[in-house]
Amino acid sequence: MSKEKCNPYENMLTMLDKAAEKLGLEYDDYVGLRYPERELTVSVPVEMDNGKKVIFQGYRIHHSSTRGPCKGGVRYHPSVDLEEVKALAAWMTWKCAVVNIPYGGAKGGVKCEPEKMSENELRKLTRRYTAMILPIIGPEKDIPAPDVNTNEQVMAWMMDTFSMLKGYAVPGVVTGKPVDIGGSLGRAEATGRGVMITVLNVIDKLKLDKNMSIAVQGFGNVGGVAAMLLSEQGFKIVGISDASCALYKKEGIDIKSALEYAKNNNRMLKGYEEEGIAEITNNELLCLDVDILIPAALENQITKKNASDIRAKIIVEAANGPTTNEADEILEKRNVIMVPDILANAGGVVVSYFEWVQNEQYFMWDEDYINSKLKGVMDKAFEEVWKIHQENNVSLRMAAYMVALGRVAKAKKIRGIFP
Ligand code: NAD
Repeated sequence: MSKEKCNPYENMLTMLDKAAEKLGLEYDDYVGLRYPERELTVSVPVEMDNGKKVIFQGYRIHHSSTRGPCKGGVRYHPSVDLEEVKALAAWMTWKCAVVNIPYGGAKGGVKCEPEKMSENELRKLTRRYTAMILPIIGPEKDIPAPDVNTNEQVMAWMMDTFSMLKGYAVPGVVTGKPVDIGGSLGRAEATGRGVMITVLNVIDKLKLDKNMSIAVQGFGNVGGVAAMLLSEQGFKIVGISDASCALYKKEGIDIKSALEYAKNNNRMLKGYEEEGIAEITNNELLCLDVDILIPAALENQITKKNASDIRAKIIVEAANGPTTNEADEILEKRNVIMVPDILANAGGVVVSYFEWVQNEQYFMWDEDYINSKLKGVMDKAFEEVWKIHQENNVSLRMAAYMVALGRVAKAKKIRGIFP
């Protein structure tokens, strides 16, 4: 597959154009949404533990602030580049619109290898990156959150850096913070919980029961929690994987025990053992004979190369952009039910929104309240997307884009062009 076809921003544009056509929008009605509003590239110098200076490349992109402040995570990964961050920012715009929360889309990232860096180096990297993007973030402008390889601690450093430079505490500048400094109960599990709610919604529509097997690619914040909550619901998780290995057990894996192992093993599954478990390749995991496949790692995992070999009947995209457009077409022709990322993994941003509301209003809500509000938002969004899917005879992905683009394009039209 050519590199161009796997460019996630190009993939996003293709979907956007198709959704616009389905909605009957003129090019002028949505052309502004083909371009990010603002792209910031920053150099992030860090004095490493060995005394050497390394300059890291960082980004923060605002795709759209049409419906509210920009919102999106920060990723630390060697594959981070401008095109990836642009796509991730745009997907945030669509995601916030699908679940109808008053945010636009943003994303950030630093190209680095966090597993090779000490905590001290990561702290310095985070603080300097925050200082470099300071002019364009803030509770009313753009609110970062965790993404791949960033966590509560990274958010705490970002919040502290921003607050120090402002001279007063600004908890609402980031979400996904530790609860002790204004984080929300339920935020850490929110994306995985949203994935679980989505799985329940899709099987309900298809009139299926929970006697189903699931494979989950990625065992981090999203994949690990989704696997845990789904196993608690009675599903059989037969395959799990992370960057270190993939594991299969026909009878179902003890997810609690695997999570405990990974927690004490630098977040990696390599070396995890239980009776009857076997190591397989990551591609074998994606192609397992399961009812439901949940990609929860990175983008471009399901491609033209392996789409025909995928045996799951339902795919729930917990990661952002795990399926290329070409793979999507192959799977659609094969009648695989695909619940798209912008709907399936929106639980995180929904509870981020609850966290920000609590920060801005000095509220402190309890976890049951948050979980039930999350369920309400996810269920409503799923219903709306399902309705468009049925009425227009389009895929769930197209339906989700139609809902999202319809809302953003309408807001853009009402606001008009400045000046
Ligand atoms: P994380 O860093 O906590 O976990 C990522 C997991 O993927 C790790 O287990 C890692 O080992 C694994 N992984 C990396 N490369 C892999 C590979 N080649 N094969 C198999 N596994 C691999 O990140 P996360 O927060 O769980 O994010 C996962 C995905 O979910 C990303 O696409 C992210 O953008 C998306 N997402 C995250 C959130 C959130 O709230 N954290 C919200 C919405 C979407």
